Amino acid sequence: MRKLERGSRIVVASHNPGKVREIHALLEPLGYAAVSAGELGLPEPVEDGTTFAENALIKAQAAAEASGLPALADDSGLCVDALGGAPGIHTARWGGPEKDFDMAMRKIEEKLQAAGATDPEARRGHFTCALALAWPDGEAEVFEGHVHGRLVWPPRGEKGFGYDPVFVPERHDITFAEMEPEKKHAMSHRARAFEKLLAALGRASEE
Ligand code: IMP
Repeated sequence: MRKLERGSRIVVASHNPGKVREIHALLEPLGYAAVSAGELGLPEPVEDGTTFAENALIKAQAAAEASGLPALADDSGLCVDALGGAPGIHTARWGGPEKDFDMAMRKIEEKLQAAGATDPEARRGHFTCALALAWPDGEAEVFEGHVHGRLVWPPRGEKGFGYDPVFVPERHDITFAEMEPEKKHAMSHRARAFEKLLAALGRASEE
């Protein structure tokens, strides 16, 4: 990967303040200054890719081109095996304009019941996070992280967000929404994608 000098500004290509804060906290100790796409007034591109990686690339490349700075974007979601990988890249959309994830979780459960997926083995799924780092000249790299687990019903726990109350990660009995946030953040799909990105940045800076 191309070297990114310490002190460089990196655009976080997201208009979600939670994501921007999280990414900022990860980049700062490495000596990078994160600035959000929102602060720079960059437009949000249409995410019309067919994979998480493509959508992350679309966002990162649009922000890098518009700002003239390296840009980082993430795209994530939940894939359920018995539903052919749905909701997948449409994970956010299943919450509707109101971002109603209680409804979205119920929709998944109804589809699992309709598919006869009642046994825990038949209820496997995983979260994916794709992180794309792009340069203004179009060069880019994508890092992916996954966390595997199973879907439970009814939803359990008040912590976390989105689909956390119905997702029990492998080798655990509690849902992501019942887990302490630090514990979830240490093992999540996002953490794994970031580990790969940070390792690549570290290797590049040693070259
Ligand atoms: P994005 O922000 O466009 O990447 O959309 C991600 C979607 O996946 C959102 O609707 C989230 O609710 C869901 N999602 C991603 N990561 C997690 C997670 O760690 N827990 C629960 N839901 C998640």
